[in-house]
Amino acid sequence: MTGQPTESPIESASGMADERVTQLFSLLADETRLAIILALAEASEPLNRERWNPTGTNVVSFSELRERVGVEDPGNFNYHLRKLDGEFIQQTADGYELVSAGERIVKTVISIAGFEETALPETPIDLACPHCGAPTAITHQRQRMYHLCTACDGNVFAGDQHPSGVLSGVMLDRAVLRDRSPVEIVLAQYAWKFSTFAMALDGVCLLCAGRIEGTLHACGDHETGPNGACASCGYSYEVTGQFVCTVCNHTKLWGIIPLSVIHPAGTAFCWDHGIELTFDGDDLGVLERLFELYGSSTLEVRSRNPVRVRVTLRDSGDERRLTYDETIDVVEVD
Ligand SMILES: [Zn+2]
Ligand SMILES: [Zn+2]
Ligand SMILES: [Zn+2]
Repeated sequence: MTGQPTESPIESASGMADERVTQLFSLLADETRLAIILALAEASEPLNRERWNPTGTNVVSFSELRERVGVEDPGNFNYHLRKLDGEFIQQTADGYELVSAGERIVKTVISIAGFEETALPETPIDLACPHCGAPTAITHQRQRMYHLCTACDGNVFAGDQHPSGVLSGVMLDRAVLRDRSPVEIVLAQYAWKFSTFAMALDGVCLLCAGRIEGTLHACGDHETGPNGACASCGYSYEVTGQFVCTVCNHTKLWGIIPLSVIHPAGTAFCWDHGIELTFDGDDLGVLERLFELYGSSTLEVRSRNPVRVRVTLRDSGDERRLTYDETIDVVEVD
């Protein structure tokens, strides 16, 4: 173990936010440099083999890049490229390409450009709440996408910071709204959520690809009130799976019944019962069927220390049982 860092990467990263890091960020406070980074992203052409390389970045020649950014003087343009080279972009034999930090700047610009108090006011969709049957709605507020029940507390008693009745809340850029109908937006939100948790179950963080660790939590005093959420833990789910990235500390939490649907045994059960877990159409049928399945499925806390739970997925008289250990590994399927 000699030579191994004793701090977690996030601790070392925060320790590293010294002069060098602030200097790098100050480099970006320049219209031409930001335009260079965005132009490299915009020039993406995967089928152009001159330009595309196997790691998925895109090489743009000096002259084309200069034209795209609109800087007349090559000397001045070169000065700006040199500032970014090695940190946000990289020079190759044929031109320039973005590196990981540069791609993240593009993502950040998209996020910032979409920051408005309410990008999408509460909009009704034709999908009933799985808890109370009342109509549901979607909204995008403060960089978050919500699917809400218009009557009950939903899955999460969220407090004043969030709208009430949260069935599902995800931090998503306003870009999610672009070129999509309300139905497509809600489907995109669930597609994102399912993929994020599928990666988390594989131990991979969606944001940084670092190692993510799962822990199962069972509420010791779970009682859902008339509005759906438990007074003790705040969730409608008695057992939740929590995932924390060991690199960037990104954290996710979801009920263990919905998580069971992502496990291959749960996905196969869904397939056998006509629930196709795809979200790319404009039909809310998949969510209606999923909510029905969640409602007829049960969970049993088999042990508290260590936590071990069994989920029984139920549909049309058929059952599939998945037993989880405290690290959210499925240890038994029957
Ligand atoms: Zn409801
Ligand atoms: Zn509880
Ligand atoms: Zn991460």
